[in-house]
Amino acid sequence: LKPTTKLMCMVKANSYGTGSFEVANTLQNNGVDFLGVAIADEGKELREAGITVPIIVMNPEQSSYSTVIDYQLEPEIYSLRVLKLFIQKLQEKQISSPYPIHLKMETGMNRLGFHEDDFEELIAILKDNSHVYVRSIFTHLATADMPEEEEYAKYQLERFDNSYAAITTALNIKPIKHALNSPGIVAYGEHQYDMVRLGIGMYGYSEYTDFMEKYLKPVVRFKTVISQISEIEKGETVSYGRRFTAERHTKIATLPVGYADGIRRSLGYGKGKVGINGHLATITGTICMDMMMVDVTDIPCKEGDEVTIFGNSPTLANVTEWLGTIPYEVLTS
Ligand SMILES: *Cc1c(COP(=O)(O)O)cnc(C)c1O
Repeated sequence: LKPTTKLMCMVKANSYGTGSFEVANTLQNNGVDFLGVAIADEGKELREAGITVPIIVMNPEQSSYSTVIDYQLEPEIYSLRVLKLFIQKLQEKQISSPYPIHLKMETGMNRLGFHEDDFEELIAILKDNSHVYVRSIFTHLATADMPEEEEYAKYQLERFDNSYAAITTALNIKPIKHALNSPGIVAYGEHQYDMVRLGIGMYGYSEYTDFMEKYLKPVVRFKTVISQISEIEKGETVSYGRRFTAERHTKIATLPVGYADGIRRSLGYGKGKVGINGHLATITGTICMDMMMVDVTDIPCKEGDEVTIFGNSPTLANVTEWLGTIPYEVLTS
């Protein structure tokens, strides 16, 4: 990125599961320009904890506009309907100075955003409007992490360029222009515009594995300890439903984490592994709510030893693959 490009960091969903305030505070101390959250309550929590940098709320629902305004959060405005409702709320609250808003353009994701046929009315509402000012205009790419879909990304970026030009020319304004998420930063750096929106990259993951190996470090680690080690004989079973039967004299380590801690129950029955003293131990039997058992028959270890659920080994990518999902879902769980 160019040194002048602003940085918005996405701390939605509890900073991808790693702790909203802790991550937001570190980012604030390092001069981040904007933080992004999904809903108003997340922004409110950050404000109450002492975060003062601008916070954009990506999907504020109508019932949360009061919270948005009371905590000086900046809403993403994605349709004429919500623009009108938000202006109405500002009037109700008798906010006199223009309130910053961020316009989301629909360019191909087909999730939220203004369509081209909204522009005429959008421009009419914003013209000489004293209640709001457009602080940024942005869009979101559907395929930034898929090299085979480059053409679609380029189509979205071009459509975005046109939308931005149409609105800003008509209103004679020059708001912050932004489009790229983490994979977008890697693949479409020439479209960094005035700002980028960094999410998963902060935690050391990228779908662009060459880039990841060269420039990123996995910074998220989920670890626990061994609560107890039991020795069982051939034929004995482990956990609910007796879904694991020992085929030999077996050493079982019990860990104090389970599906309530976000370890998906489907990782049980021998599917997933955890790291103990440089070895991988297989998860045996059914994962419980707050506990799980792993086979440590061939692994030197003792009660109290550290266990890695994911980190260096197994990696977040390993767990993601066992679950057949994406790292976002593993982290936020
Ligand atoms: C979550 C989000 C991002 C960040 O995406 P990553 O792929 O994690 O970088 C960027 N922009 C918007 C609008 C988002 O909702």
